[in-house]
Amino acid sequence: MLQDEHQRRAYLEALGIDVWLPRDEADAEPDEGETIQGSEGLDWDTLRETVAGCRRCSLCESRTQTVFGVGNSDADWMIIGEAPGAEEDRRGEPFVGRAGKLLDEMLRAVGQGRDQVFIANILKCRPPNNRDPKPEESAACRSYLERQIELVKPKIILAVGRIAAQLLLETDAPVGRLRGSLHNLGETPLVVTYHPAYLLRSPSQKRKAWDDLCLARRVLEGARA
Ligand code: URA
Repeated sequence: MLQDEHQRRAYLEALGIDVWLPRDEADAEPDEGETIQGSEGLDWDTLRETVAGCRRCSLCESRTQTVFGVGNSDADWMIIGEAPGAEEDRRGEPFVGRAGKLLDEMLRAVGQGRDQVFIANILKCRPPNNRDPKPEESAACRSYLERQIELVKPKIILAVGRIAAQLLLETDAPVGRLRGSLHNLGETPLVVTYHPAYLLRSPSQKRKAWDDLCLARRVLEGARA
């Protein structure tokens, strides 16, 4: 699909306007490499607006607002969590609750401020009662995150927690096995660590999270060298 046409449809979708397609086109199989609900080629503003108006899954019914992501759109570090919680849903920003404060401290320990990194989640909407994302929800949201990664072009991705790690790496291995070594998401190096909410409950694991952050920093320094 041409980018202009793609953007026009994304605008209309963001405004809540149904896009009617000629029957042939509506019934057509997606082109190879194109997902049915992709975000290919969208620029930041269009992507943001598309997410804000998203109705791709039923979480749009219960959210207060979408939580797009925050930070430096040209960041070296990209932090990917699971989904907004109650506070994030209320404020429209990821990781602003207690777990977020700890994440901020962890990042500061490796010399990164919240405004230097880019922080996003697998899901842009809060699952009710903070339950785990359903497969159809993460599938519906995936192209948004993929486009964010393409636009930021981070030098390192830090996946925090089981849900982010497993969905990004397409595995069901536990965090304890995924952390401590280097993975790749396409061309981008990826390090897994514990979710800060887990670290609040199990502070004895903070040492391992520190090791993971140091691994991520070493990878980044290696990439710069
Ligand atoms: N937990 C997450 O994974 N993401 C948030 O934005 C908040 C809490």
